[in-house]
Amino acid sequence: MTTRLTIALIKGDGIGIEVADSAVRIVNASLSAVGASLPIYDEIQAGAAYFRQTGADIEPDGEARAGEADAIFLGAVGLPSVRHADGTEISPHLRLRDRYGLYAGIRPVKAYPNIPRRLADPRAAGIDMVILRESTEGLFYSAAVHGRSKIVGDEAVYDTLRISRAVSEKLHRFAFRLARKRKARGRPGKLTCVDKANVFASLAFFRRIFDEIRPEFPDIEIAHAYVDAQALDLVRKPWDVDVLVTENMFGDILSDLAGGLVGGMGMAACGEIGDEIGLFQPAHGSAPDIMGRDKANPLAAILSGALMLDYLGEKLALPEYSAAAALIETAVARGFLANRLRPVEFGGDMGTKAVTCELLALIEALSPHIRAGRGEGADTVAS
Ligand code: NAD
Repeated sequence: MTTRLTIALIKGDGIGIEVADSAVRIVNASLSAVGASLPIYDEIQAGAAYFRQTGADIEPDGEARAGEADAIFLGAVGLPSVRHADGTEISPHLRLRDRYGLYAGIRPVKAYPNIPRRLADPRAAGIDMVILRESTEGLFYSAAVHGRSKIVGDEAVYDTLRISRAVSEKLHRFAFRLARKRKARGRPGKLTCVDKANVFASLAFFRRIFDEIRPEFPDIEIAHAYVDAQALDLVRKPWDVDVLVTENMFGDILSDLAGGLVGGMGMAACGEIGDEIGLFQPAHGSAPDIMGRDKANPLAAILSGALMLDYLGEKLALPEYSAAAALIETAVARGFLANRLRPVEFGGDMGTKAVTCELLALIEALSPHIRAGRGEGADTVAS
């Protein structure tokens, strides 16, 4: 049995609460299956409903407690009907991203069987990539902190695109290590730097730092692409893409485009990793249109839970956590293959609770094999 870790748990608003509950159940079941101790969950109140009650967007010591945990798990925060006086929404997670320097935004994009796909080409069944989106600067530099945009009366507004050497070096090394990890797990391990180096000095700098880091990883095949050409190729031949590393805004757009090729928001997992801590959350929001109706697909949150376990397994050298992550990924893949996972989101008959229960059954069915050491849960996790 391993030592007990702490997860800061922010369920948030709307379906965030529903899918976070599902993710916790699945994370715990997979850890139990591999014989690991369950983490302690430090639940932190935050979000639009909390703001409506208290006037604050997070508990007074919430940000600090989140930083003390081994990882942060978030459902979703925000409700369009609850806003600050300046019209912006309640989004304490953006401060967490800024405060803890969560620069490496991991967005896995993977096709599962029996999910509606947008591309008719049969090769679309093989889509399996990760988009690594820098998440603290780029064109979001001004957006992260109020007042950074330069507003000139009613005539013009300037937002700054910032690329720093310190963040870019960390990001590119992270990207190369990610490509290497995928290669070890049977993927091509090919890393493409996506930029607009032909036009912007900032993005030429981004590429230059990528090329400086490259000799440290001679085993990794690399490519360069301009973002417009990469967008075209994501539609023309996404099955050829393995790992993309890119600026914040480009990553924001490309990851939604790629996610759209393999299903919908209910499959879009996300990890945001810094030097000290990682925050894991589904990429979707609180979905007020379906909240409280058992219609949310919990798999984006559950797969984000798998990313969290994989992160903790590597960071803290806990192989059983990595095994639990792989177990979740295997159970999801098998569930879709056998048509046992049929979320309402894709026209199926299974709501949040039914998908969660079926996944628990799939994990349980895989568990005896794992405990017997026969390696049934050894398929690769998305990252
Ligand atoms: P959204 O992602 O909540 O919903 C967009 C559409 O996708 C809706 O039709 C919704 O029903 C559907 N959808 C989303 N997740 C789904 C799931 N798991 N299963 C099935 N369908 C799903 O985006 P929005 O409507 O633009 O935003 C709603 C609220 O969420 C806003 O207040 C916004 O600020 C907030 N938000 C929060 C985060 C976050 O917490 N990181 C991210 C995005 C939006």
